[in-house]
Amino acid sequence: MLKETLIRELAAIVGEERVVTDPEAVLDAAKDYIGYRRYQRDDGHNRVPVAACVVRAGSTHQVSEVLKFLNDNKVDVVPRTGGSSVTRGLEPVAGGVILDGSDMNEILEINEEDMYVTAKCGTPLEYIENCLNQKGYTAGHFPQSFPLAQVGGLLATRSIGQLSTLYGGIEDLVVGLEAVLADGSVIRIKNVPRRSVGPDLRHLFIGNEGMLGFITEATLKIFKYAPENRWMKAYGVHGMKNGLNLIHEVMKEGYRPAVVRLHDPVEVQQVLKIDAPEGMALLMFMCEGPAGITKATGAGIEEIAARYGVMDLGTKPVEHWLVTRNDVCNDMDKPIYYNMGGVVDTCEISANWSVIGKIYEDVCERLKAEIPSLILCGGHSSHSYMQGTNIYFEFGYLVTGGADQAESEYMHIVSIIMEETLKYGGSIAHHHGSGKYRTPWMPLEHGSSYPLMYKLKEALDPNGILNKGVILVDKK
Ligand SMILES: Cc1cc2nc3c(=O)[nH]c(=O)nc-3n(C[C@H](O)[C@H](O)[C@H](O)COP(=O)(O)OP(=O)(O)OC[C@H]3O[C@@H](n4cnc5c(N)ncnc54)[C@H](O)[C@@H]3O)c2cc1C
Repeated sequence: MLKETLIRELAAIVGEERVVTDPEAVLDAAKDYIGYRRYQRDDGHNRVPVAACVVRAGSTHQVSEVLKFLNDNKVDVVPRTGGSSVTRGLEPVAGGVILDGSDMNEILEINEEDMYVTAKCGTPLEYIENCLNQKGYTAGHFPQSFPLAQVGGLLATRSIGQLSTLYGGIEDLVVGLEAVLADGSVIRIKNVPRRSVGPDLRHLFIGNEGMLGFITEATLKIFKYAPENRWMKAYGVHGMKNGLNLIHEVMKEGYRPAVVRLHDPVEVQQVLKIDAPEGMALLMFMCEGPAGITKATGAGIEEIAARYGVMDLGTKPVEHWLVTRNDVCNDMDKPIYYNMGGVVDTCEISANWSVIGKIYEDVCERLKAEIPSLILCGGHSSHSYMQGTNIYFEFGYLVTGGADQAESEYMHIVSIIMEETLKYGGSIAHHHGSGKYRTPWMPLEHGSSYPLMYKLKEALDPNGILNKGVILVDKK
């Protein structure tokens, strides 16, 4: 369809004021914070396919009408809300449409009896949390992108927050939702505490990254908010493996601290810049909830930690982390390490306790051996479970060959992390999602279950208009 016709038809559906065609605004809506794009943006030369326009939907009805029209005319579309993607998830097909739900910004209900909050897809997480805190509740969901992310994107990327060891990931917090399929049909999954009525359809949309449907509304659990009951403690630990074993024991004993973070010495000195003994890893715990539980959990952690020869660092490092933990969001448009001519970024994976230490060691060893331009190589574990934990690798490299090399070097580093993770049976994405940059590894990640993903796509989006390139390798 001709660009002019597409824009005219969309304006007829949602009103002219909701169709954005300003070239800068259209590019801006496709902006993604993956490290090499941040670097590449700096020379002013755009490397991202350009959409025909952005449609700013104002209601579920508009999302439905727009999708129906795009589906009938086989026009590609990328759903969007907060725009904090770090995986190239928002990059469109050239000439396609970006459907932005961030104007759908409203809390519909805070239900203190059934303990949930219902909000439209464009409601910022930070706003929801502030409203809940005023009533003595919390959503318990604190991704580092807390000041940026909105409800639709949080669900679509299967997001996780810094207090996940207690509250879980978004998949544990979603009670019900509303979504629109590619053909415009609106589906609603009602709000009940549990159901035993077949496969759980919420999971078709949680983590779908905009390729199976557009999430228009969600209902999330809420919890009592009592920061005065918090227990926190930091320890210096000799070696990552030692720290991982300690966390493993805490989890195995059945304790549920809200925050469990183990930063390797490189991160402590170069990234966190926390005053901690040189050469030691930093382990931080924070417990939340009723006072009796946080006190008992703290005592249990202290008892286990004492057996690992840790150094007690008090509460200051945790307090410092609590107030600085999302600062990175203040300056997202500045290329990181630009002044040094390099790229810094992160890549998160997960694996069982039996192999996670090996993955951490092997990745670091290979990066140091195979990437001569490497200037930063570290990592941390920040989301722990009974079965295992994540490692959030943090890497940096100097760019000497221009913007193209910034990308190829980045993908070389990522491929090492993916290979080592898959070798040990881990998952190549703990919480940022596949986006478009991790798609090549998806067949290996999913193995024999991967063909099911195509069947879901075929059933829900037979014309393949929704967010082409995420999760599914293009068969053509
Ligand atoms: C500084 C920083 C820190 C981060 N920290 C974390 C973290 O701690 N934990 C974490 O999990 N993630 C983190 N992220 C990644 C990202 O912010 C999250 O994945 C977030 O959930 C995305 O929400 P958003 O509203 O910004 O979505 P967007 O960026 O708008 O979209 C993200 C993806 O979801 C799809 N999508 C968006 N809205 C919808 C919708 N309504 N329906 C269907 N699909 C949709 C898009 O097509 C895209 O593929 C971080 C990102 C940044 C920049």
